[in-house]
Amino acid sequence: MAGMSKQGAWTRWEQVDPSRITWAELWKAESLWIKFLVQFIYDVLPSPANLHTWGLADTPECKLCQKRGTLEHILSSCSKALGEGRYRWRHDWVLKVLADSICTAIQHSKTQAAPKQTITFIRAGQKEQHQRPWPTAGLLSTARDWQLQVDLGRQLKFPGNITATSLRPDMVLTSESTKQVVILELTVSWEDRIEEAHERKRAKYVELSSECWNNGWKVRCEPVEVGCRGFAGHSLLRTLKLLGVRGLLLRKATRNILEATERASRWLWIRRGDPWSDRPLGHKPGTDHPRLGRPGEGV
Ligand SMILES: [Zn+2]
Repeated sequence: MAGMSKQGAWTRWEQVDPSRITWAELWKAESLWIKFLVQFIYDVLPSPANLHTWGLADTPECKLCQKRGTLEHILSSCSKALGEGRYRWRHDWVLKVLADSICTAIQHSKTQAAPKQTITFIRAGQKEQHQRPWPTAGLLSTARDWQLQVDLGRQLKFPGNITATSLRPDMVLTSESTKQVVILELTVSWEDRIEEAHERKRAKYVELSSECWNNGWKVRCEPVEVGCRGFAGHSLLRTLKLLGVRGLLLRKATRNILEATERASRWLWIRRGDPWSDRPLGHKPGTDHPRLGRPGEGV
């Protein structure tokens, strides 16, 4: 499998969490969806490039830009799709779900008391059991005044009391009382390029982070990646855990985020040759966003 460049591409996804679907979910799933998912993940959907390879189409061209229409091109590298805001629409849709999950976690952390130290009594002659340390409760438990700003509809302005910048991260989480700031940047990327996206986004905020430090703020910059086909980058799980999203909350948040990504990508796939006018899923992010990356970088 590892030797197959297309169907075996997943064996080279090092920054991707492999758990994607449980047996229980698979049992309940509709066969059409399972068929789509398998073709989607192994890159054997009838894309123009595949149809051409299989001898079923005269040309491998993308209907939007006339370049080679592979699945990767359609979902993340088409310059016309990028310019029309298709990838931005998917990005903002996933960002909204991620932000909702963090809001829920903030509310949840306010209701949680800090874990108490307990004393374990041991019977005479018994050996002391090694106690597992309490899991650290995460960043959200370190303050009660966390505020989350999300860059949806071009709303975000980096807090001027921390530092002045023209950069606009996707999310900024701040606690005034403890002088903490967390910069979160989401990228929905082709699975093979998750690592590259992570490094690029980290580099983008190095300077801003050091300015925050210099102004006396404890800062964390966490680029978060989700694969186009609904696979979580390790960075997604790591960041949610860092914030203190754990257990059921973590499972729920991850499932919602991955489901949203896959649904949005599926929509981009279905509409691959159609004009981009009415936007689905009830969410209408702006299409003329100034922060468009280059095709293939992931937005
Ligand atoms: Zn194209």
